[in-house]
Amino acid sequence: MASDTEADILVAGAGVLGVTIAYWVSSLYDCDVVLADSSNAPAMHGSSRNTGVIHRPFYLDPVKKRVFARTSLISHPLWKRLAQSAGLPWKQVGTFNVALEESEVRTIEKYRSWGISNGMDEKELDLLDGRGVSSMEPEVKCSSGLLSRTDVSVDFGAFTRHIWKAVLSRHVRFLGGHRFLSARVRRDVTEAEFRSDEGPHAVRCRYLINAAGGGALSIAHALGLAREYAVMNFRGEYWVVDEPFASRVSSNIYRPPAFPQYPFLDPHFVVRADGSRQIGPNAVMVPGPYIYSGVGLTKLKGLLDGPIRPKARLLTSGDFISLLSREWKSSLSKSAMCDRVRKFVPGLEARMLRRRAVFGVRSSVVGSSGFVPEALVLKGTASAHIINYNSPGATGAPAFSAMVIAELRSAGMLDSFRQKQGDAPIPGWDFESVTARLYAGQRYLLR
Ligand SMILES: Cc1cc2nc3c(=O)[nH]c(=O)nc-3n(C[C@H](O)[C@H](O)[C@H](O)COP(=O)(O)OP(=O)(O)OC[C@H]3O[C@@H](n4cnc5c(N)ncnc54)[C@H](O)[C@@H]3O)c2cc1C
Repeated sequence: MASDTEADILVAGAGVLGVTIAYWVSSLYDCDVVLADSSNAPAMHGSSRNTGVIHRPFYLDPVKKRVFARTSLISHPLWKRLAQSAGLPWKQVGTFNVALEESEVRTIEKYRSWGISNGMDEKELDLLDGRGVSSMEPEVKCSSGLLSRTDVSVDFGAFTRHIWKAVLSRHVRFLGGHRFLSARVRRDVTEAEFRSDEGPHAVRCRYLINAAGGGALSIAHALGLAREYAVMNFRGEYWVVDEPFASRVSSNIYRPPAFPQYPFLDPHFVVRADGSRQIGPNAVMVPGPYIYSGVGLTKLKGLLDGPIRPKARLLTSGDFISLLSREWKSSLSKSAMCDRVRKFVPGLEARMLRRRAVFGVRSSVVGSSGFVPEALVLKGTASAHIINYNSPGATGAPAFSAMVIAELRSAGMLDSFRQKQGDAPIPGWDFESVTARLYAGQRYLLR
């Protein structure tokens, strides 16, 4: 058995959230930080398996999605600086949100005012009639569209790996291939039990930050927190669009979701950072967070992970059942998937979709009122847990993680660690200026 590890701060999960948390913590404190992940390298899951869009916050309700809207806004220039300094792709393709029906026309008008309330410049958002949209995107048919000019396609996996290099240069230790199983707190020390190929391994730390994506809720449950919440997993599947049709669309094309009460955007036509075009993602319910193909038969018992009541309540809703069946249909049938996008890109045909692309899984948290609209940050004894960190989580990660650290600091949770003069190995990524912009005009962001 490997010997135990001691750490001041343990960060669980090396996706974009955990890696940016490690970046801020190691820039502010002279202490021993360990980042642990069940994979052998960072960004092996959600952070590399997404649509790759840096979303502008026009489609986010300024009240219900306040934190995601704010952190997306503040993170945008940080990502841009990182892309420039690291030579990573930054493709400002813009996003059209297109309306086909009268109710959708009202939705995109509302999106425009939300964007401005959320801090976007009016010049970034243009409302166009159907002819105006077709003059820019001849393959798109709609009655009107909202163009968000500053949406960008990037590779969040590559971004995360780049930040990771900066983190490693500060001597943060990485425990790869370590799956967090359980934990207990004794005299203000959290003892986390991991399993690796070499057997069980304990990490004793003075503070735990749980940023374990699809595994975060079960870690919180292990420490007696968030017991009222359950998690449901939805796989997002993509298809690559063949040339020459692919290049006839040059922006991202979205349509307002048919079921806005659920946390999924309907499949879109997207331009990826490498220039390829894809359609997706749908939202196929699967029994676990890492089921990237098939139905996950061996993991079916995951559907029964407690608490059952919030999940059972959803399953009695007619709308939810029709969403589930529509999503599964578009998983089983390529034509059904294609038809969802053909409604606004009518020239697209199923024969142009010859290859599936990389799939990702969203782990959505449900409580007594249904899906939780935003990420939750829960505090335990010497620990903080970020659950429900879903889209646009990759967009907002640098500012969201700075916000978590800022609020833990102001609550005195990190006072026992020795502070140091912050540095910024990534240009523009310094804690003071990021948090000054984040909190301009407000004291706290978390409820
Ligand atoms: C289909 C899809 C499309 C999306 N599109 C976009 C988009 O266009 N723009 C955008 O901004 N956001 C998008 N998102 C959301 C975005 O990808 C996520 O919000 C973000 O990547 C979450 O980062 P994370 O670090 O929390 O999770 P992850 O990247 O999943 O990282 C969590 C890490 O925790 C580790 N872990 C889990 N359990 C354990 C355990 N028990 N022990 C040890 N380690 C553990 C995992 O191995 C993983 O590395 C999309 C997501 C999906 C699924």
